[in-house]
Amino acid sequence: MSESSLSSKLFATAKQYIPGGVNSPVRAFRNVGGEPFFAQRAKGCRVWDVDGKDYIDYVGTWGPAILGHAPQAVVNAVQNAAKNGVSFGIPNPLEVDMAKLIVEWVPSIEKVRMCNSGTEATMSCVRLARGFTKRDRIVKFDGCYHGHVDALLVAAGSGALTHGQPDSAGIPASYAALTTVLPYNDVEALENCFATLGDEIAAIIVESYPANAGLILPQPGYLQKLRDITQKHGALLIFDEVMTGFRIGKGGVQEKENITPDLTALGKVIGGGLPVGAFGGRADIMDMLAPDGPVYQAGTLSGNPLAMAAGLAQLREMEKNQGWQRLEELGQTMETAVLETLKKTGRNYQWYRAGSMFCLFFTETPVKNLTDAKTSDLNAFRSFFHYCLNHGVYFAPSQFETGFISLAHTQDDLDRTAEVVQEALEQLG
Ligand code: PMP
Repeated sequence: MSESSLSSKLFATAKQYIPGGVNSPVRAFRNVGGEPFFAQRAKGCRVWDVDGKDYIDYVGTWGPAILGHAPQAVVNAVQNAAKNGVSFGIPNPLEVDMAKLIVEWVPSIEKVRMCNSGTEATMSCVRLARGFTKRDRIVKFDGCYHGHVDALLVAAGSGALTHGQPDSAGIPASYAALTTVLPYNDVEALENCFATLGDEIAAIIVESYPANAGLILPQPGYLQKLRDITQKHGALLIFDEVMTGFRIGKGGVQEKENITPDLTALGKVIGGGLPVGAFGGRADIMDMLAPDGPVYQAGTLSGNPLAMAAGLAQLREMEKNQGWQRLEELGQTMETAVLETLKKTGRNYQWYRAGSMFCLFFTETPVKNLTDAKTSDLNAFRSFFHYCLNHGVYFAPSQFETGFISLAHTQDDLDRTAEVVQEALEQLG
């Protein structure tokens, strides 16, 4: 980004008024160096910056843009809904349509409540699990991100049974002490933890496919193990499907892997690009929520008609177009190209993909958990990232993120991406 660019000028001004110049930290490009570009508009798989340069986008507003940016069906739905009012704070019919769709599509969900972000969804799942089980301890996994919830912003102390240390200032150590962090994909650590603390544990919360440390897939049988051990000890299993819900398939990872969690957190795709989250699960647990039960949860804008209209339009469009099948095909096309390029350039980097979600780790170590992910060569990633960005391909500005393909990516876009990826790997030297 040259200093005279409009993006650069905007960033300088933004820094005067907004902490770090951004409204969410990863946007600041701190992991890759340089400065972020400012978006002017986005359509299909492309984003245009304020200086007129365009990019093939694999961030997709961090997951929601599964149809691509500003799909006509979503734009129309939002415009039409807005004519009737932008917010009511009174029950509206679209909330019922959305709840019905979620219950029909997501196997484990019998009742669902809407909220405004993924963070709210996971926070509410944790409170509900504690209220339902009357236990306080939460188990999470190293490298899994569940939003900026106090109890879940704990990832350090990866050893089994290590009591959590908060990742952020401002989180009382006593909150974090109720969170136990385990290494992902490690059955022995899990068993040891439950052997020692089993009767204190309210719930395990897990990203059904961890996608916030790059993309890490569960070893065969691991998710079932989480289901079995929680059941055995009277704890709940919470699937965080904020990223994977409606992206991996109509019913998320739980449908694909045939695992039934007790509670599920949703977000991103479900809002069609508007600020939405949801959480749902077993009716007997969900009925613990206010106004029927003792667990309080609320929201001025929850079930907002524009957000419901956008989400419903996006989900119906996916279903109508057999979107998930097409995304799998696009994912396979990208995978073939990347694997060929790795071979040609003599790199043994680790590639992982689930449908339209992907990650190339700049390491030769197979990645089963955060410790493996951290063996990545971050300098090589930085150089790769900036080469791609300069040549019009926008991947997430951190090694520890997942890429997203949308239905708007065409064969031509994937071909161009493959060319740029090959050049970017070649220039690493
Ligand atoms: N859970 C997961 C798995 C996520 O990826 C995210 C966001 N990246 C969240 C929760 C938090 O969602 P939000 O940013 O909407 O609060």
